[in-house]
Amino acid sequence: MFLSFLKFNKNCLEMKLLLPTILFSSLFSFAQQVEFHRCATTNAIDYQESLTPGYKDAVISAFDAAKALNMNPESKSGSLYTIPVVVHIVHNTTEENLPDSVIIDQIRVLNEDYNRLNPDTVNMRADFDIVKGNPRIEFKLAQIDPNGQPTTGITRTFTNTTSFGSLAFLSGDMSDLEKVKSTADGGIDPWDQSRYLNIWVCDMSLFGFTALLGYATPPAGLPNWPPGSTGGLGDGVVIQYQAFGSNNPNDIGAGVVIKGRTTTHEVGHYLGLRHIWGDGDCTAEDGIDDTPNADAQSNTDCDPSKNTCTDNIQSVDLPDMIENYMDYSSEDCQNSFTALQVSLMHGVLELQRYDLVHGNPASIEENAIEFVLYPNPAQDFVEIKSSAQIDEIQIMDITGKTIQVDFFNNQIDVRAFRTGVYFIDAYTKEGQKITRRLVKQ
Ligand SMILES: [Zn+2]
Repeated sequence: MFLSFLKFNKNCLEMKLLLPTILFSSLFSFAQQVEFHRCATTNAIDYQESLTPGYKDAVISAFDAAKALNMNPESKSGSLYTIPVVVHIVHNTTEENLPDSVIIDQIRVLNEDYNRLNPDTVNMRADFDIVKGNPRIEFKLAQIDPNGQPTTGITRTFTNTTSFGSLAFLSGDMSDLEKVKSTADGGIDPWDQSRYLNIWVCDMSLFGFTALLGYATPPAGLPNWPPGSTGGLGDGVVIQYQAFGSNNPNDIGAGVVIKGRTTTHEVGHYLGLRHIWGDGDCTAEDGIDDTPNADAQSNTDCDPSKNTCTDNIQSVDLPDMIENYMDYSSEDCQNSFTALQVSLMHGVLELQRYDLVHGNPASIEENAIEFVLYPNPAQDFVEIKSSAQIDEIQIMDITGKTIQVDFFNNQIDVRAFRTGVYFIDAYTKEGQKITRRLVKQ
């Protein structure tokens, strides 16, 4: 019943104003007044700035550099990205010790959402056909640990800490939350952050109430921090345990729908994306040209009638995009990224997070087949050089639309293609699938 009073709000200042009341109130009135944070990534940036002056500028310049790279697609590699993931379950109760099935389901959700394979893309309004994008990023539970040993990609740590949440967080100090990333402080140290996406799953509640669903560290234009090297933020993602996976047995309360998209959202931050309303009014920007502006975050509603700001995206004033994973809409109505959000994430993977997806010893490429597209970028014909015989190919544009193509003698005719990025799925005689990126000039 208490939880029914909770509502989403990201604004930390409002929380600060509530503090004196909270301190002298009963739990019941606390529950009446608390407004919980959907995502604390912007707070995390401010906090890191207080520890390491210049961090905020580094995040912004990293964002700008990744965006600039998008203007120059030639410099990108042609491959689909695979990110090795380690999930750290840090538990005090049996409920927090989520079963493997929930973790595997969360990875499935990420792979659907980051490959536009989620069935609810059909719910995206046709208005957004002109901007939708497919990241083609794959997440795999790590199969090799940092010592080169086989692993499930899941760690389990019992902690005496009943919650990593604390009142300090409400005034912008994230140091208690960050303890989950340190073995010495009751959590668990990260695995090499340049080689693994570390996701910690734990309890961050306050007085038993959900205070925060998750937060992440955007890339900072600096080499990723080595494990435990700073007293500040450890690179990676933290998720409240009831918000992990779409088959989580624990109810988060307040009628909040959980479909594993808190993690989709936080990984979006980890790959450089900002909230689509730019954390401000119509004049605030998320730095991405094809996401419509909004005068505020969506709340838990899925209200398709809202068009709070006038914008001009390919000559169209699009409505507020409640379908976007980087909004605060209900997980029920989120189903899409935009093409330029995809380009930004690809830029981050080519710059700040290069080692995560290039020559990463933590990634095992099973049945590795030598497969090269040449030239790439291409103008007229692309040759396929492969160590296996290719039986069939399928080509898709960045929106996931299949392109008809002539494929003969290991050559693809791209003369009729429009300039841009395409994905090529090649199938060998043995049924193995290889995916590469192709840029048409
Ligand atoms: Zn967020």
